[in-house]
Amino acid sequence: VGTRGCKKIRGAQIRDILDSKHNVLFDCDGVIWNGETVVAGAPEVVTLLKQQGKRVFFVTNNCTRPRENYVQKFSRLGFTDVVEEEIFSSAYCSAAYLRDVAKVQGKVFVIGCHGVQKELQDAGVPIVEDVSDGPDVSIYNFPLEPDVKAVLVGYDERFTFMKLAKACCYLKNSDCLFLATDPDPWHPLRGGRITPGSGSLTAALETASSRKATVIGKPSRFMFECIASQFDLDPARSLMIGDRLETDILFGANCGLDTMLTLTGVSTMEEAQQYRDSDASEKKDFVPDYVVETIGDFLQALED
Ligand code: PLP
Ligand code: CA
Repeated sequence: VGTRGCKKIRGAQIRDILDSKHNVLFDCDGVIWNGETVVAGAPEVVTLLKQQGKRVFFVTNNCTRPRENYVQKFSRLGFTDVVEEEIFSSAYCSAAYLRDVAKVQGKVFVIGCHGVQKELQDAGVPIVEDVSDGPDVSIYNFPLEPDVKAVLVGYDERFTFMKLAKACCYLKNSDCLFLATDPDPWHPLRGGRITPGSGSLTAALETASSRKATVIGKPSRFMFECIASQFDLDPARSLMIGDRLETDILFGANCGLDTMLTLTGVSTMEEAQQYRDSDASEKKDFVPDYVVETIGDFLQALED
């Protein structure tokens, strides 16, 4: 094998790769949209891929929305043919994991927003009610529920010291599972700002509990297993397209998929090349097979 990876492609080269695949897995933020701004051409690309008989999936570490709200977002941004069954979020997959893999018998203490809570509810996984604490409750003396068998941490804009304190108490019990929706460190916002990701909250709890979380979202293989349990997926005929090397591209490598970096999001060509040229062999799984400027470039390749 020659130097593998980071092959910048366009036009007919894109077409050849897509021709060889049956399943296309898209990361969402940084690939098909940035926040509330759609990547130009993305809705048409999805439609054309489907018209050509491909199966399309959306694999996102964003746990803030339940699946049904993603359907609304897709349609708001101009996608006309995306259905709930194609959307796999770290919240949805965390609920599936708790129900089908861990088969958790008891309640789940959730640090996370509406998306996580709603997906757990929909999956029939009981969660600890988030009641407001009474006047005699302090961070030195707070009530704990007796039957908590898992702690799940995801992005939570209402993260507090109290939630951290309760979570690390539950984790004192070694029978209590410790799960994280995703390991993302931060996310870009507009105007050069960033917001801390689930990974930063998980890191706080890992330190406080002296335990390591099991990650459900990318780069964990579980996201792929979750899709594969519902659709018959041949990894060799599947392509993962993402914008973050440490999650999306590693995810693809972990699952045996060909990988494509798009430059409309977080990671750059230079970072990909640094991983490629690094001597550390464990960095090789961060190297994408292919690089495109934007998935909008698929349009020409698909229309010809
Ligand atoms: N989690 C949160 C809270 C986010 O805001 C984002 C991106 O906006 C993500 C995760 C990453 O999502 P994706 O995996 O679609 O890039
Ligand atoms: Ca992304």
